Amino acid sequence: MKQNTRRWLVRAGVALAGIILAAGSMLLIPAVQDRVFTLFVTQHLRTGNTPFFKDDNLKVLLCGTSAPFADPNRAQSCVAVFANGKYYLVDTGPGSGRNLALWQLRGRELGAVFLTHFHSDHIGDLGEINTNAWLDGHPGPLPVYGGPGVEPVVQGFNQAYAQDEDYRTVNTGSGLLPPAAATMRATTISLAGPPTPRMNRRSAPLQLGGLTITAFEVNHKPAAPAYAYRFDYRGRSVTISGDTRYHPPLVAAARGSDVLVHEAQSQHLVRLIQESAATTGNARLDRIMGDIQAYHADPIDAARIANAAQVRLLVFTHLNPPPSNPLTYSMFYRGLNRVRSTDWISGVDGTFITLPPDSKEVIVTTLKP
Ligand SMILES: [Zn+2]
Ligand SMILES: [Zn+2]
Repeated sequence: MKQNTRRWLVRAGVALAGIILAAGSMLLIPAVQDRVFTLFVTQHLRTGNTPFFKDDNLKVLLCGTSAPFADPNRAQSCVAVFANGKYYLVDTGPGSGRNLALWQLRGRELGAVFLTHFHSDHIGDLGEINTNAWLDGHPGPLPVYGGPGVEPVVQGFNQAYAQDEDYRTVNTGSGLLPPAAATMRATTISLAGPPTPRMNRRSAPLQLGGLTITAFEVNHKPAAPAYAYRFDYRGRSVTISGDTRYHPPLVAAARGSDVLVHEAQSQHLVRLIQESAATTGNARLDRIMGDIQAYHADPIDAARIANAAQVRLLVFTHLNPPPSNPLTYSMFYRGLNRVRSTDWISGVDGTFITLPPDSKEVIVTTLKP
C-alpha cells in the first residue's frame, strides 16, 4: 500500500471516530435527548397498529402459546383473529395482555372475546385486556362470549376491577372514560340439541362484523362444556380447538378450514416428568401429570384430525410442556412426520398467518412481541 493511501485511511478513521464521538456526546445534551425521544414517540404513534388492519385479509396471530407451565418467552392461551377492521380474541391467558399491548393491539378495534372454557390459563388476563380496551377508547361494554358459566366469570372480573375503574374515572373524568364502557357484557353461547355421547354438538352460527363464528363442543372433561371456535370470512377459515383430548368430531368442525390451531401436549414428555416426580417422591406433581394426560391431545392426535379435515396448515399451540430447546422440541414432535410430514408449524408468540380472501394462499410470518 502506498504511503499516501495509508495516511488517507488513518485520517478517515480518525475523522469517523471523531464523528461517532461527537454524535455520542450530543446524546448527553438534555435538549438533544428530548428531541430524539420525541421523534421516536411521534414515529411510534404515527405507525400505530395499522399493519394489522391495512387490508381485508383474514389474519391469525398467536398471542399466547403456552399451557400452565411457565415459559419466559410464551404467554398462556390466546389467539387473535383479524377481519374487516376488527380483531377477536379466543382466550385471554396470563401474559397475553402484555403481548397485545406490545403490538399496540388495545381497545378500539377489539370486537369481542370468545372463551373456550374457564381454566385459569385461558382467562387470567381478561381484566387487564378489558381495562386497556377501555383506556384506549373502546366504545362500550366489551362483549365476552362463552359456554354456560361465562356470566359469573365476567361478573367476577367486573367486580374485581370496579375500584380500579372508580380511581381512573375520578382522575381522568367520565367524559373520557365513561364508567358504562368499562364493564364487560357476557353472552352465553348455547349448543343446539340435547347432549350426545359423542359430544358433537354445535352452536347456531353467529354473524359478527362480517364474520361467521360457530362454537363446537370438544372433550375437555371435567371442564364442560368446552368449545372450539371456527371463524369464516370471505371464503377463508380458521378453526381453533381450545383445550381438548383427541376428539374426532373436530374433523367435521374443521373440515375445509385453511388453518387449524390445535392444542398439543406431548404425552411422552408428561409421562417422563411424572416418572421423575414419582422417583423424587413428589406425589402432588406425580398425580397432576397423571391427570392431565386424560384431557389433552398429543401432537400426533391433532395431526390425525387435521389430515381428516383436510386443512392446509396445522398450527400447534398450548404447548405442554413448552419445548424450549432443540432436545425437547425433537422429543415433543417425535413421530409426527410419519402422520403429517408437511404443512404444520409449532406456534410461538407472534406467529402471524395471513389468508387473502378467495384464494388458497397461506402466508406465515413471525412478529416480535
Ligand atoms: Zn389450558
Ligand atoms: Zn383447560
